[in-house]
Amino acid sequence: MIPYMPSQEACKIKLDANESPYDVPLKVKERIWKRLQEEHFNYYYDPSCDELRESLSKYTGAKPQQIFVGSGADEIILDLILAFAGPGRDVIIPSPTFSSYEIFATVAGSNVIKVPIHRIKQGNGWIWDLDINQIKEHFTQDKDQLLFICYPNNPTGDYFDEEKVLDLINSFNGIVAVDEAYFEFGGKTFADRLHQFPHVVVIRTFSKIFSLAGLRVGYAIGHEDLINQLYKVKLPYNVSLFSQIAAVEILKETDWLEDMKRQFAKARDELKEELDNIKGLRVYPSAANFFLCELEKSRDFVYEELLKRGILTRRLSDDILKNTLRFCIGTPEQNRFLISSLREILD
Ligand code: PMP
Repeated sequence: MIPYMPSQEACKIKLDANESPYDVPLKVKERIWKRLQEEHFNYYYDPSCDELRESLSKYTGAKPQQIFVGSGADEIILDLILAFAGPGRDVIIPSPTFSSYEIFATVAGSNVIKVPIHRIKQGNGWIWDLDINQIKEHFTQDKDQLLFICYPNNPTGDYFDEEKVLDLINSFNGIVAVDEAYFEFGGKTFADRLHQFPHVVVIRTFSKIFSLAGLRVGYAIGHEDLINQLYKVKLPYNVSLFSQIAAVEILKETDWLEDMKRQFAKARDELKEELDNIKGLRVYPSAANFFLCELEKSRDFVYEELLKRGILTRRLSDDILKNTLRFCIGTPEQNRFLISSLREILD
């Protein structure tokens, strides 16, 4: 295996990791500091994240017993694999997608089955499509299986066709993990249909629209029996005191959240329109806070040229993505600089 080392490249504009360019509002930080000052750091903090699960219950509409909190969505993915995969079990991954599924499934000794997704033409543009027939060929009653669906998909950017995802969910006997890390940017979810699907678990994170990537908080929503399995494999005190309190406090900021959603949606529309008009670049639709672009020129050249201007983007390693770059939405000023830089480089 090749160690996964996210880039630490020095840059002025960091667009490589799909973070929010906006920090948590100062007034929220002050509330967090105040609460932290009253806490004891010498004692372990709540291992079951009760207060945060109550807040998440209000936010998601699920019962607290249906919610499990982890140190980032990454830990949720790992715990799902520890609970439901491992030696003798299959992990089915439509690919390319978020790399952690394959990495953790491999580390846990699972049998990894990657099924390619395909580019198809739609209207004037191109989208990425699940090959549900090929995925279903791997479905079996004989083994325990775990299927990951990233919705919207990272790194391609958009949702897969909802009917196709539902078809997979309905035909599968194993556990389906629907990764909704980018939920708030697009709004589509399977979380409101979980009563129909006790074998589906939704993964979410505070690292994206909630601006808490540095504090590592993610959560899972699912049937109580499924969620209980995660408690068997979890690290005892997996989410720090600081992280739990910060997540509770940011969830109170409902107006701020709505404002963030509006800002990202506006920036995404504007960026897409600009990108559509740049020659030598094909941009895929996005329901998230990032875009995947196909380039005519060598992507290493474009990547290096952007870096010379202080903009850090992401090169994905999958073969099918070999001439693509992924970058996330920044502030309006950063987006303008990205567009003018791309024009300069690609013209
Ligand atoms: N799922 C997806 C689809 C992601 O893109 C990411 C992070 N980029 C994660 C999960 C992990 O998020 P976290 O920071 O909460 O571990």
